[in-house]
Amino acid sequence: MPEHDVLIVGAGPVGLLLACLLLQDGLRVVVCERRTDADDRTRAIGIHRPGLDALDAAGIGVDVRSEALRLRGGEVRSRRRTLAMLTFAPDRPVLILPQPRTSALLRSRLQALSPDATISGCTVTALRQAADAVHVTAETTEGPRELTASIVVVADGVRSRLRGGLDIGWRRHAGRAAYSMLDIDDREVGERAVLHCEPAGLVESFPLPDGRRRWVVRNGRGEDLRRTDDFRAAIEARTGIGIELPPDAEPTSFVAAQHRATRVTRGRVVLLGDAAHEISPIGGQGMNLGWVDAVRLASELVRSLPQRMPELARFEWHALRSASRAQRRSAFYMSMGAPAPMPVVRSRELLIC
Ligand SMILES: Cc1cc2nc3c(=O)[nH]c(=O)nc-3n(C[C@H](O)[C@H](O)[C@H](O)COP(=O)(O)OP(=O)(O)OC[C@H]3O[C@@H](n4cnc5c(N)ncnc54)[C@H](O)[C@@H]3O)c2cc1C
Repeated sequence: MPEHDVLIVGAGPVGLLLACLLLQDGLRVVVCERRTDADDRTRAIGIHRPGLDALDAAGIGVDVRSEALRLRGGEVRSRRRTLAMLTFAPDRPVLILPQPRTSALLRSRLQALSPDATISGCTVTALRQAADAVHVTAETTEGPRELTASIVVVADGVRSRLRGGLDIGWRRHAGRAAYSMLDIDDREVGERAVLHCEPAGLVESFPLPDGRRRWVVRNGRGEDLRRTDDFRAAIEARTGIGIELPPDAEPTSFVAAQHRATRVTRGRVVLLGDAAHEISPIGGQGMNLGWVDAVRLASELVRSLPQRMPELARFEWHALRSASRAQRRSAFYMSMGAPAPMPVVRSRELLIC
């Protein structure tokens, strides 16, 4: 009999949530995480209704609600005009909480459910499938280690090293562009997001908890906005809004791209989260989608383990279909904020109105 029912590779938000769900249902779970410290990169901020339902199921919905900022609505602007106003219905809330805080809440929950479930400093290097188990090879701070599990869930992120070894393809899909981003203090942060779909490219402004604001700017062709002055100047030139930036502010750049695994199961191994699909951050869906998949996967695993091999075909079908839909939506949002000549800007303004 394998040592564990489920071994999860990666303690990102998706792996952590899955671990909580499975432990709550009494399965024997271990999470291998290569890092020894917390990942403090501020990536995801938006939590949508399905994501919130998943966090409720994992037992941290109340904590997330109490720390998060509740977005009241949004506004789409172009050339200094408001094109559309949106108010979020009370039953479809959008919460804003930086990813490091969400992950910290998930880690505490996991720790409370099972103090020894996570092995930190444990990099999984190889998977070998046998008839009744997966044999896992890992490098740990104390040397090499071998583990066995009935099912292995690979949630090791977009640059997954293990996906290739499973002979699973990784296909590029529409939607690719470079952006710069900065989170800063803002005393008048409010509770509304503003999207400026400007001829020179998108500018997004999102309120964050604790009197902070995120600015995201789409880079023009060949444009590098990592210098504070260039970042501020681009926002002002495109929107007319002058922002104050502290001298030590450092905008970061990222390339939004979209990929999808050609399949998400291979025998007893399952791909989950960004390892299965990269969704452009424009539209903010990657983490939420990973959680929704985790809830669906947990229910299949709990139904069968430890006695039987889970039936995963239905899970796989849903996971691939929802990733494809999310990528189409994100590609559309990205096209609405692409730099464009005036005739295109005018037609997209008509589309948004
Ligand atoms: C700028 C930006 C903004 C975003 N905004 C949003 C948003 O608003 N809403 C949203 O839903 N999504 C958003 N996303 C996407 C979101 O950040 C990701 O979808 C999310 O982090 C995916 O979580 P994950 O657990 O699948 O992977 P990751 O967070 O990448 O975690 C993978 C983990 O696996 C570990 N690992 C890797 N290899 C190994 C190994 N071999 N052995 C052991 N451990 C390993 C890593 O150390 C890491 O801890 C955004 C992304 C970016 C870049």
